[in-house]
Amino acid sequence: MSKPRVAIIGAGFGGLTAARALANAPVEVTIVDEANHHLFQPLLYQVATGALSPAEIARPIRAILARQANCEVVLGKVTAVDTQQRKIEFHDGGLRNDSLPYDYLIVAAGARHSYFGHEEWERLAPGLKTLQDALEIRRRILMAFEKADRETDAAAKAAALTFVVVGGGPTGVELAGAIGEIARHLVSPGFRNISPSEIRVLLVENAPRILLSFPEDLAQAACESLRRIGVEVLTGSLVTGIEPGRVLMGDRAIPALTVLWAAGVVASPLAKSLGGPLDRAGRVMVNKDLTIPGQPNVFVIGDLACFTHQTGHPLPGVAPVAMQMGVHAAHNIVRACDGQALKDFHYLDKGNLATIGRAAAVADLGKIKLSGLVAWIAWLAIHIFFLIGFRNRLVAIFTWAWTYVTYDRAAMLIVGSDPSSAPPS
Ligand SMILES: Cc1cc2nc3c(=O)[nH]c(=O)nc-3n(C[C@H](O)[C@H](O)[C@H](O)COP(=O)(O)OP(=O)(O)OC[C@H]3O[C@@H](n4cnc5c(N)ncnc54)[C@H](O)[C@@H]3O)c2cc1C
Repeated sequence: MSKPRVAIIGAGFGGLTAARALANAPVEVTIVDEANHHLFQPLLYQVATGALSPAEIARPIRAILARQANCEVVLGKVTAVDTQQRKIEFHDGGLRNDSLPYDYLIVAAGARHSYFGHEEWERLAPGLKTLQDALEIRRRILMAFEKADRETDAAAKAAALTFVVVGGGPTGVELAGAIGEIARHLVSPGFRNISPSEIRVLLVENAPRILLSFPEDLAQAACESLRRIGVEVLTGSLVTGIEPGRVLMGDRAIPALTVLWAAGVVASPLAKSLGGPLDRAGRVMVNKDLTIPGQPNVFVIGDLACFTHQTGHPLPGVAPVAMQMGVHAAHNIVRACDGQALKDFHYLDKGNLATIGRAAAVADLGKIKLSGLVAWIAWLAIHIFFLIGFRNRLVAIFTWAWTYVTYDRAAMLIVGSDPSSAPPS
C-alpha cells in the first residue's frame, strides 16, 4: 500500500518545522516553496542595514532537508488549492504549470506587508519580508548617503539624510534603531561631507505608543533607548500620504528620500482559495485542531492562520507560534493516519523580544521583564540558537562580535538598481 502523501506549502518557520516533525512518520512529504531558501526573518533588518549578508540568515531548503528520506522539495509558486480534487496547483518560475495531489495538506504560506488599501505606496516605501526586500532597503539607505555626500543644496541634503520608518512594532523599532546606529557610528569615517548630527531618523506610529504587543514599561524603555541613539519617535501620528521625496501626516509634510514600511501585514492570497472564513487581515480562521472548517485533512498554520488563544485573543504572527503549530499539525496528521482523533492545539508562550540598536533590547518573558544590555544578550542568545545551520550561527556570532567591537558593517554593499531610474542618454 502506498503511503499517505502530505503536501506542505511554504518552507518558512511553520512549514519547515512540520516537514521535520514528519521525518519518521509513515508518510511521503512534498514541500513546495516559491523561494529556494528558508529565511530567518527576525534577522532581515540586519541584512537591510548591512550588518549581515543574505547567506548568513538563509539556507537552501534542499540542503536543510537533504537527509530526510521521506521528503521531496519542489521549487514553485502555488497559485491555487483545489480542496475538492485534493490537489495544489503551482508554477515553477512561470515556465511550467503543474499540480500535486495530496492526502493531507499543510498550508504555511505566511503573510506580506499591508498598505491598508494604498498599494501605490509600496514602490515608495518598501516593506521588509524577503531577502529581495532587505537588499532593496539596503540599497536605498546607502544611496541616500551617497546622494547626501555630494549634495550642495541644503534642503535636498536634509531630505536625503532623513529616514522615516512607518510602524512602531518590533520590525519598525529594530529598523529605526539600526539606522540610528549607522547614523551615529558608521557614516562619518567614510562619508566626508556628512555629519552624524545632520541625519534624522523618525519612527512614526499611529497608536499612542510603540510596541503595542509589549507591556507599557518595556515600550517606554524601548522609546528611551531609541531616543538615546537619536531616533525621533512620533506616536499618535497617522501617515496619510507618501509621495516621492516626502511623507504626509495630515497637513504636516516631512521631506524624506527614504521611507520604509513596517506598519501592517496581510495574509497570503492563497488563504482565499481554501474557501473558509477569513479574518480582517485575510487570515484563515482555523479550528482548535488547526484544520479548516469542513476539511479535516487541511491544516493551516503560522502567520496565515487566525487561531483564538486560550485567553480569547488571536495568536500573534511570530515564529514560535508558527513552529509550535508546525509540530502540532504534523502530529495530528500522524494521528489521523493511525485512525485516532485529532488533538486541539495549545500555545506555550515563551515571551517576546525586540532589539534596539547595538546593545539594547526589551524582553517580556512572562514574569521576567528585561530591558537594556541584559535583554540584548538574551535576544542574541535566542537568535543564534534558532538560526538555521551551524555555519550560519558561527558566522553570525563572529560578525556580531566584530561589528560590536569595530562598528564595521561589512555588508554595506549597494547591489541592484532603482528600477524607475533610467540612465541619462
Ligand atoms: C522583518 C521581520 C522580523 C521579524 N522578527 C521576528 C522576531 O524577532 N521574532 C519572531 O518570533 N517573529 C518575528 N517575525 C515574524 C516571523 O518571522 C513570522 O511569524 C514567521 O516567519 C511565520 O512563519 P510562517 O511559516 O507562517 O511564514 P513564513 O516564515 O513567512 O514562511 C512562508 C513561506 O511560504 C512561502 N510562500 C509564500 N507564498 C507562497 C506560494 N504562493 N507558493 C509557494 N510558497 C509560498 C514563502 O516563500 C516562505 O518561505 C518577523 C517577521 C519579519 C518580516
